[in-house]
Amino acid sequence: MKEKFKLVATVAAGLEAVVGKEIRNLGINCQIANGKVFFDGSVEVIARTNLWLRAADRVKIVVGEFPARTFEELFQGVFTLDWENYLPLGAKFPISKAKCVKSKLHNEPSVQAISKKAVAKKLQKYFHRPEGVPLQETGAEFKIEVSILKDKATIMIDTTGASLFKRGYRTEKGGAPIKENMAAAIIELSNWFPDKPFIDPTCGSGTFCIEAAMIGMNIAPGFNRDFAFEAWPWVDKELVQRVRDEAENQANYDIELDISGFDIDGRMVEIAKKNAAEAGLSDVIKLKQMRLQDLKTDKINGVIISNPPYGERMLDDKAVDILYNEMGQTFAPLKTWSKFILTSDENFEKKYGSQADKKRKLYNGTLRVDLYQYYGQRVKRNLS
Ligand code: SAH
Repeated sequence: MKEKFKLVATVAAGLEAVVGKEIRNLGINCQIANGKVFFDGSVEVIARTNLWLRAADRVKIVVGEFPARTFEELFQGVFTLDWENYLPLGAKFPISKAKCVKSKLHNEPSVQAISKKAVAKKLQKYFHRPEGVPLQETGAEFKIEVSILKDKATIMIDTTGASLFKRGYRTEKGGAPIKENMAAAIIELSNWFPDKPFIDPTCGSGTFCIEAAMIGMNIAPGFNRDFAFEAWPWVDKELVQRVRDEAENQANYDIELDISGFDIDGRMVEIAKKNAAEAGLSDVIKLKQMRLQDLKTDKINGVIISNPPYGERMLDDKAVDILYNEMGQTFAPLKTWSKFILTSDENFEKKYGSQADKKRKLYNGTLRVDLYQYYGQRVKRNLS
């Protein structure tokens, strides 16, 4: 089997640089593209990135790339790849995804069927199996993805399994949750440090607070789940265990954190508490029922991150207007605090009452949203 792989982390649009930084922080070189970050590495790198990347969606192996303008080119291109270095005899190898964009080949089910045939034929040849008899697929699963963009095919194997945003701690999520990896990315963009207070005044199921606590304690986001590649027979289980053990040793459970989440809805606060408990963070995160309009604090230099209701998702427009206006009034006295508000409302700044220092376009699922960023006034902290 292979020693070194070409790898790609898939990323929501707008967050490529965040994931690039995470990968470099793991000591791995990478190149950023649209919705993707490319890097190379061994099985250890596959393990480490799946376990540690907070803001990415998935990690995939790039098996190969080639021009595919016709079904014949697609078949030959897939057939030529070194499948024997990935798929053991007996492997399940569904073509789980085919995506064609701006290409002559656009019938995705046919692209899937042809790619499947080409992989099967290659394995039959390599393992000396008769061509007419279908391969038994009873072993470990390797999900193959075919993406054709502008007549160029990229063939990948997913190493992750359930998307990386599924950390495993969210038991219930309420009506409008934010994805865990998006929440982590926003915290990383916010310049929050573990010595600063952190508040999510519309915490819902608690995602931002839990992600902040995991960042603050340096807890690997994937510690509570497993990944598709771990079931592959040629993956060294001891190596993966070592990467997991190292992650466990790097966590700092003793650090003092000041992380609070509030929500007007008592049921959401209960859900947030359950989720925090599931992540092992009950003692770390303060959660209570409170209206954001009642938020007051004497602390300085904190970070507020809020993902309030958007008109189209939860509240009617009038109520949203009032909420945003009251939010502006409530946050205004907190001059040294930075505030980050994620909403799809294009008139947010007007309702809130001041213009953001910076706006960043993101996607919450398929919904286009903006992250309105208000930076706190700098105050020298008393370090004595
Ligand atoms: N980021 C959250 C989802 C937030 S949805 C998650 O990942 O689960 C918006 C939340 O704002 C809802 O839970 C709603 O109950 C809460 N909310 C609405 N009005 C509020 C107010 N005035 N004060 C505090 N919370 C409010």
